[in-house]
Amino acid sequence: MAASSLFSAAVRRLEGKVAIITGGASGIGECTARIFTRHGAKVVIADIQDDLAKSVCNDIGPESASFVHCDVTKEGDVKNVVDTTVSKFGKLDIMFNNAGILGGDAKPDILDNDISEFEQVFRVNVAGVFLGTKHAARMMKPARRGSIINTASICSVTGGVASHAYTSSKHGVLGLTRNAAVELGQYGIRVNCVSPYLVPTPLAKNFFKMDDEECLNVYKNLKGANLEPVDVAASALFLASDESKYVSGHSLIIDGGFTITNCGFSIFGQDEMN
Ligand code: NAD
Repeated sequence: MAASSLFSAAVRRLEGKVAIITGGASGIGECTARIFTRHGAKVVIADIQDDLAKSVCNDIGPESASFVHCDVTKEGDVKNVVDTTVSKFGKLDIMFNNAGILGGDAKPDILDNDISEFEQVFRVNVAGVFLGTKHAARMMKPARRGSIINTASICSVTGGVASHAYTSSKHGVLGLTRNAAVELGQYGIRVNCVSPYLVPTPLAKNFFKMDDEECLNVYKNLKGANLEPVDVAASALFLASDESKYVSGHSLIIDGGFTITNCGFSIFGQDEMN
């Protein structure tokens, strides 16, 4: 699906729905906020970058998008964004727990890895998703419906692509997604995650010290297409909408086949692998 068709939404797939997007000021979250609102949702962006988030909301249009400051590591902030959303719109249909960090510089030797950096990555990437799931469920359980979507990563299912902290944290997001899907299914609440490969956002570009072009030129299995924020947003749109009404506990991997490719050995030969 072309980005333009998602933005011009002939069929509004989230008409009347209310969504919170953590980390919605930038990258994947920002793009998702734009697409969700184009599809008829009211979106509340929850982020720590206040000025950037406010300018995204202004650009989208204040009738569709609003901002609540929220550090996902703080339970009071997460409770507040959920309570504010429900008192403003009367309900919460979609919780997109997307905020995440890669942590400090990649240190390939575990001996150089610092426990405080490791814990900070877990606080944002795992505890943040836990708190978002908990407080969304507080509103969704009585309503007996809802869609919770978490941003995991290909690092939730494979090793060696990012730091020990990040890889462990994204495995944690996948585990939490599955556990919450099992518990919350009885209340009609679906819990899924999106698991992208390398997307050229500020997070990836700063960490890998690459520009857009360099990000797009790292090894990929699928040729002829580039992974962009809109591709992750399109997957989140599917999981948020009623089109996925029987999908729960699923990780939608958006990687062009990267995680099922064995780069060391293939009967398809090296020409095809490079
Ligand atoms: P980004 O840096 O563009 O956006 C992340 C957003 O999260 C920012 O707006 C930031 O302010 C916000 N944030 C960070 N810490 C926060 C906190 N404590 N509380 C609230 N908000 C906070 O990066 P992105 O690439 O769009 O990342 C979004 C998600 O996608 C992350 O969970 C990331 O791990 C995941 N992801 C990214 C890639 C990639 O290659 N870019 C690949 C797989 C998964």
